[in-house]
Amino acid sequence: MALLSWQTGKLIDTAEHGPATRSFRFEVTGVNDFTFKPGQFITLDLPIHEKPNKRLRSYSIVSWPDGTNQFELLVVQTPGGAGTQFLFHDLQPGGEIKFRGAQGVFTIPEDLNGSIFLICTGTGVAPFRSMIQYIYKQGLQPENLHLIYGCRTRDELLYFEEFNQMASEIPGFHYHPVLSRENWDGLQGRVHAVYESLCAGKPESRFYLCGWKHMVDEARQRIRDLGFPDKSVHLELYG
Ligand SMILES: Cc1cc2nc3c(=O)[nH]c(=O)nc-3n(C[C@H](O)[C@H](O)[C@H](O)COP(=O)(O)OP(=O)(O)OC[C@H]3O[C@@H](n4cnc5c(N)ncnc54)[C@H](O)[C@@H]3O)c2cc1C
Repeated sequence: MALLSWQTGKLIDTAEHGPATRSFRFEVTGVNDFTFKPGQFITLDLPIHEKPNKRLRSYSIVSWPDGTNQFELLVVQTPGGAGTQFLFHDLQPGGEIKFRGAQGVFTIPEDLNGSIFLICTGTGVAPFRSMIQYIYKQGLQPENLHLIYGCRTRDELLYFEEFNQMASEIPGFHYHPVLSRENWDGLQGRVHAVYESLCAGKPESRFYLCGWKHMVDEARQRIRDLGFPDKSVHLELYG
């Protein structure tokens, strides 16, 4: 399949996003336009192991399709992790990397009617940033779209100003940042209490969960316990 053939990405630049999190902007060589659906991921083949299946690391695309041949990833450094060690310390601007994709079915809902809850922690916000920027740029009108984003501290909240600005300009989009380990004048605690109170009395709600197992598993169970059918829940599990 053409979409899943290996291509080459050249690192253009990087940007720091708080402690241990960095974005990486790549240009796809040999094409004018790199198309993907907001929410999809790509898989990198990193030179970190002899065995091909131990070299692969997937990352959601944090940018949105804009008609260029570029895409951006948002990566948190895993202590002792071979893939992130390579990305953070060995890969330099101008360096090239093999990747395949974009792929995946965790994509922007085609129908933006009703209540939709996008729930994430940490870099799990990446596919949602792509979706919401796309909605913003295309002038789409969600009816009742909530981003519930949990982090430990204020400096870990990625794209804080950007999401606040989009929430003030996109009618129907609501941004709920939640901090678990720092006092501030916003929501405090974990993500779960936030969607549990917002979805009460809205039986047609749809849920999109993205991030690491502990949060995603707990959210899926809690949503089940609230009586929502499994088909109302979409997942992107990072590990
Ligand atoms: C579809 C998909 C999309 C992904 N998108 C992103 C993304 O946009 N941004 C991103 O940073 N990562 C993303 N990941 C995770 C990424 O693929 C790697 O697993 C991660 O970068 C760690 O790679 P590593 O080689 O450094 O560590 P490894 O040596 O492969 O990982 C060590 C262990 O730590 C676990 N782990 C790694 N990071 C965390 C964490 N923050 N919290 C809890 N456990 C963790 C892993 O599951 C693994 O068991 C995605 C994974 C998948 C499957």
